[in-house]
Parts: sequence; C-alpha cells; structure tokens
Amino acid sequence: MTDTAHDPEAERWHYRPAGPVALNPIFAWPPQPMAVLQWYRGAWLQVTSLTLTFVLALAAWLWVLPPLEQMTTFRPGWMATVWLMNLVPQAAIAGALHWWLYIRKGQGMRTKFDRRDLTRDNGSFTFRNQVWDNIWWTLGSAITVATAYQWIVFWVMANGWVATVTWAGAPVWFVVWMFFIPMWSGLHFYWVHRLEHHPRLYKRVHAVHHRNVSTGPWSGISNHWFENSLYFTTYFIHLIVASHPLHLLFHAFFQQVSPVLSHSGFEKIIAKDTEAARAGDFFHQLHHRYFECNYGTSEIPFDRWFGTYHDGSAAATERTRAFKKQMYTR
Ligand SMILES: [Zn+2]
Ligand SMILES: [Zn+2]
Repeated sequence: MTDTAHDPEAERWHYRPAGPVALNPIFAWPPQPMAVLQWYRGAWLQVTSLTLTFVLALAAWLWVLPPLEQMTTFRPGWMATVWLMNLVPQAAIAGALHWWLYIRKGQGMRTKFDRRDLTRDNGSFTFRNQVWDNIWWTLGSAITVATAYQWIVFWVMANGWVATVTWAGAPVWFVVWMFFIPMWSGLHFYWVHRLEHHPRLYKRVHAVHHRNVSTGPWSGISNHWFENSLYFTTYFIHLIVASHPLHLLFHAFFQQVSPVLSHSGFEKIIAKDTEAARAGDFFHQLHHRYFECNYGTSEIPFDRWFGTYHDGSAAATERTRAFKKQMYTR
C-alpha cells in the first residue's frame, strides 16, 4: 500500500484517478470474467468515446455516406461529402468540448489532471498559440490525410477489388469485427507510436504532438503530416479483412474523435453536478507528462508486456526516467 499523504506522484497532479491505471482485464491471468464484464459494460453502456463514435458512424452511414456504387471512380461530389463528414463532427465535438472546459470553464477544475491551463503566447507552437496550433494540425493535416485514406478504401471496396460483408450475409462476423476494431487500432497505434519515439523521428515529427504537455480537446490528433501518414494507415486493414463501409466509418470516428475526449485534460465531463461522459484517459496523460511510457492504449496491455507500462505511481515515474536516460544516451 502506498501512503498517499507521502506519495510524490500525487503532488504532481491536480487530480488523478485512485489506484493503479487500469488495463483491459481480458488479458489477465487467471481469468477475471466479472472484471471483463465490468470493463466492457463501462465502455459500451455509458457515454464514452466508444459509444459516441459508434453513434456517429451509424448516423454518417444512414444519412451522409453516398452509396458505394457512386464511389467506383474518383469524383469531387462524393469525395467532398466524405471530407465534410470527417471535418464537421471533429470541429463540432472538439469545439464544443473546448468551449465547455476551457472558455466557459463549465466544471471549473473538477477532474482536471494537470494544474496548468493551455498555453498562450509561446513560440514553440505554430501561431504562438496552443489552441490555434492544434486546430491547424487537426483540421489541416490530420483530417486531410484521414480523408484521403478513406477515399482509397471506399474506392477499392466500391470496385469490388476486396471482400466486403453485409449485415444480412454475415451478422456474427459483422458484430465480432466491429468489437475488435478498437483492439486492432490499439495494436497498430502501439507500434507506430513506438516508431515515432525513435529519437530521429521524434525530433522532426512527433514533437508536434508532444508540444502539448498539458493537453486539450484539440490536441487529440494534432499531429505532423508525416505522423498522420503513418497513423491513419490503420484504415488499410479493411483492404485485408472483409468489412462493411460501417466498419470503416466506426474505425475512422474512433481513430479521429476518441482522442478528442482522451486528450481533453479532464477525466469526466460534468454538467450540473451529473457525470455526463467519461472523457480523459489518465493512461495517455501520463505519456504526455513522462514520454517514454504508455505508448499504446489500455485496450491491449502491450506496455505491460514490453515493460513500458506506467500505472500512475511514483515508482513507475522513477522507472520511466531511468529508461528515458538510457534510451537517449545509447
Ligand atoms: Zn497524445
Ligand atoms: Zn508520443
């Protein structure tokens, strides 16, 4: 047991969740079925990034996405629709969350991890302003690359060059694959992210994202062009694994919108004293503070398996600092 009164880690945060940062118990041994049930109930039966992105995907599929038959050739009409389908929700959700948390300051400091506010008048940011910097790298760089990759996947699907599935033809596979998409995304992210922390790539590319030590909703996918060109290759799994357009839509919103919540800087969104949504992700917040830890997500515990897991304790901070030192002095 750690004595929280003398826990140096506690002093480094304004707020942090109690206990070690949780990882998906599906990988625990011996098996913990109740914990697994709890984990998925928490993820799917509340307002979380998963449920929000699934609803978005469903809405986009029902009312926005042009039918595949229209996408057999590259034409400006459907391509513009796909671009707006990515751009508008991104701007609306990040904008609304930023307004509530940082302009209106609707919940004050409640469940805010870092004591610091977002940065203004600082030369390390594009336009010398963290928020404008983040908006530019999100809507300019990330959404452009994400959209271009989706154009390719939809175009290939529309031409029948890859296997696709329908709800009527394979309902079980349809659901199972949907359920595994966040896991695939976590696996892909872990390896791409580790690569980006290679000192050479870090300095020129990934540092754009890590300018944000204290993060906000717009920091989520505020990435360099080159990083985005790697990060969004995750969508090309749909050229290998038989998918439906709804799978790609869910994948896309999960990849683009869930970082808005996880970087919000707050663990929960609170409105009128009621918890409206689960947002922030302390697991990734630790990555922004200490860099060489928690490269993945809590969905698949790669970090535990490869020794880079930071559970939020002072001992883990010591370990991360030692790892960082040997990493950069080799
Ligand atoms: Zn981040
Ligand atoms: Zn990083």
